[in-house]
Amino acid sequence: MTKKIVILIAIACACVHSLPMFAWGQEGHRIIAKIAYDHLSRKACKSIDSIMGKRGMLYWANWPDEIKSDTIYPTSHDWHYQDFDGGMSDSQVADALVHYPKEGGNLFRALDSLVAVAKAGKADVYTLRFIIHLSGDRYCPMHTAHMDDKGGNAVRMAWFSKNQNTNLHAVWDTKLIESQGYSYTEYAQMIEDTYAGQRKSIEQMTDSQLLVNNYHFTESIYRYQETWDGNTYHYIYRWHQPMEQQLYIAGIRLAKLLNEIYK
Ligand SMILES: [Zn+2]
Repeated sequence: MTKKIVILIAIACACVHSLPMFAWGQEGHRIIAKIAYDHLSRKACKSIDSIMGKRGMLYWANWPDEIKSDTIYPTSHDWHYQDFDGGMSDSQVADALVHYPKEGGNLFRALDSLVAVAKAGKADVYTLRFIIHLSGDRYCPMHTAHMDDKGGNAVRMAWFSKNQNTNLHAVWDTKLIESQGYSYTEYAQMIEDTYAGQRKSIEQMTDSQLLVNNYHFTESIYRYQETWDGNTYHYIYRWHQPMEQQLYIAGIRLAKLLNEIYK
């Protein structure tokens, strides 16, 4: 994809609500890319390596976040999230994949546009960097969260000490992952070993089923927030395994997407 195509996609995505949001953090995106890389077909792996360099998809998974400080793709900032309201029905949530919401992010529209470019055989290294990153963002709970609190950015949290003020968004982007102390390769391996039995069912689910599940997952995080007593150790104990499962889903679905593009 040339820069021109990226700009055209950017223009198609009306920028309504832009905030400095980073999804999953650096380690999260690398974990997702590693899980996906380990599940690529031989043909997809060869094609992607030839465009991105050997294991390039792991090394460039964070580039779409890094370029937010540059001026090259100024309108890509709202591609990283798709906000929802609380209390929506399953069909209302699933509808966002078909009729892209007019406000609260452009994740679904941007990803669909990029995948269409790739399926037409026109993906260059930039197209793939965006697809690999944004496909991961789709499964980051605070990137499909509430519009009225800016995807959890406005929900303040103390993390371990009152001096470490943070917010719900940042906890799910980075702090929960970092709390386990693994390198990204160790963490990806542990997650793959733990959840391998779920691979087939994750591959067989539709995007809308997964989005609805993701929405309910995010809602459960909000509900817990209302009763949480502020104990950081308990927060980690309660949520690190569901978070790891979410990373596995993101990795397997990214592999499925790339295997379809390069079938
Ligand atoms: Zn992102």
